[in-house]
Amino acid sequence: MDFSLESSQLELRDRAEALTAELMTLEDRCEADRGLDTESLAWAAERIRHHRLNAINMPAQWGGQGLSTFDQVIVQSVLGGLTNALWDLVWRPANALRHCTDAQRERFLLPAILGERRDCFAVTEPDAGSDPSRITSTATRVGGGYRISGEKWFVTTGDVADFLIVLALVQPEGAPTLFLVDKDLPGVSIKRTPRYMHTFVFEHPEFILEDVAIGAECVLGAVGAGYDITKEWFVEERLMIGARCVGAARRALSIATDFARTRVQFDRPIVEHQLVGAMLADSAVDIALMQALVHQVAWEATGRLDRKLLHAKAAMAKLSASEMAGRVVDRCLQVLGGRGYMRDSAVERLYRDIRVDRIWEGTSEIQRIIIAGEIAKRGLTSLLDIAGSASPDAAR
Ligand SMILES: Cc1cc2nc3c(=O)[nH]c(=O)nc-3n(C[C@H](O)[C@H](O)[C@H](O)COP(=O)(O)OP(=O)(O)OC[C@H]3O[C@@H](n4cnc5c(N)ncnc54)[C@H](O)[C@@H]3O)c2cc1C
Repeated sequence: MDFSLESSQLELRDRAEALTAELMTLEDRCEADRGLDTESLAWAAERIRHHRLNAINMPAQWGGQGLSTFDQVIVQSVLGGLTNALWDLVWRPANALRHCTDAQRERFLLPAILGERRDCFAVTEPDAGSDPSRITSTATRVGGGYRISGEKWFVTTGDVADFLIVLALVQPEGAPTLFLVDKDLPGVSIKRTPRYMHTFVFEHPEFILEDVAIGAECVLGAVGAGYDITKEWFVEERLMIGARCVGAARRALSIATDFARTRVQFDRPIVEHQLVGAMLADSAVDIALMQALVHQVAWEATGRLDRKLLHAKAAMAKLSASEMAGRVVDRCLQVLGGRGYMRDSAVERLYRDIRVDRIWEGTSEIQRIIIAGEIAKRGLTSLLDIAGSASPDAAR
């Protein structure tokens, strides 16, 4: 067994670190202005292309970087240190778009990989959050196409997206189905753009879809495949959230450590006060454990786990890493004292930024339910063992 990164992975991490350092220069502006101007966004896009980190999750033959899940985690672990969700500047089209037909790929996916068009994923509704089976958005067959109606909430990047991936129920059978919906179509409108705890680089608007006419060629995957494809998206996103939480916690701890070694109170650096040292020690242990788990699951995800087990292990990584980041960033803020509570402190921003990681892509409670369900159905062994060789029905 070899835990070391290969030279290509070290080089990949260097590129992610270089990009992260450049994007970090935008943090204060993003916080002050509640977003970035078009010039800064264009500059960021140019730097992302320069470092070859666009669409890391998409195949190289389509213009993506073709990274394995493990290599994507290397990148996301570094980007996770950015505040104001600037990691989301580094576009990574939803993996659901892998289900595009050839024609859809030309129209939606290839421009999304190149950063010319942006996607957003619209599942949640006023009455359907943790339980997506409660969605009421409908797609009614009319002529050769569909008319979509419904309301979608919390649509991340909906303000800058060019098209939405919408989950709706095809009538009359109620088949859950994903649709590719251009944002500029008649009937698509933004109802409200709420403010949130974090100062995210983009917004999470609420959309109204009113009798939006689309062709049958806008079905993504197949009629009835909506939940399954959405689940694949959740699995990838949960692992990436786990990785970014590790990055966020590492940055907070590094800032708190530098401060604790130089800040003198009661005639000595505060790191020498054992209560402060203990907070740093507990945080270092928390991060090291979670880094190991997230890397393990990402390694297993590359062909070593069947879909169900990968679903449960991604839930383990997301649950534990997001809760770890909450503990660590909270402690780091405490170590910084009043300075940690100022908005110009990256730790204060991380404190607000990472809270959502226990809510979106399935709350901590939902992750626990997934893990408990796996234990009930298949026992503990497969969850706790590290998967060895590639299984025949591997997920990817
Ligand atoms: C900033 C932000 C961005 C988001 N981006 C997107 C996006 O891009 N696209 C999208 O579709 N959605 C998005 N979401 C929505 C997100 O996925 C939901 O908020 C999340 O799934 C929880 O749903 P809910 O908020 O409706 O809470 P609810 O489902 O109403 O849950 C409320 C509480 O009840 C608990 N609960 C629910 N069911 C159970 C149960 N069976 N057992 C125990 N506890 C339970 C929950 O854990 C939670 O604590 C985003 C949310 C936020 C906050």
